[in-house]
Amino acid sequence: MVIKKPDNAKLDRIVADARRNAEQRELGYREQALKLYPWICGRCSREFTRANLRELTVHHRNHDHDFNPPDGSNWELLCVYCHDNEHSRYLDHGGSGAAKPEAGAVATGNPFADLKGMLSGRKS
Ligand SMILES: [Zn+2]
Ligand SMILES: [Zn+2]
Repeated sequence: MVIKKPDNAKLDRIVADARRNAEQRELGYREQALKLYPWICGRCSREFTRANLRELTVHHRNHDHDFNPPDGSNWELLCVYCHDNEHSRYLDHGGSGAAKPEAGAVATGNPFADLKGMLSGRKS
């Protein structure tokens, strides 16, 4: 069996292109949002300067990153912490149950637990 390299290279290029496009699109709306709005988190009112501007992020009010009206009506500036909160709150409402603790998955199905009991039981 021969694995052809050109296919991988092509795939890499496609992935790289997609990533670059996404980054450029993100830079585009982030820049616009930073021009439109004061550099303040919309939740905790933390103020930002050029020094920590990295921690100020652009949130999409309708959670659709492809919906970027030029008037900024779908954007909200949030610090990274409030942005995280905003999204986990949104996920909670979805009721997917992904955040549920995995109790019960640990203690069950260990074949050695029984084996140990059998061995020590035979000792007497
Ligand atoms: Zn905040
Ligand atoms: Zn967001």
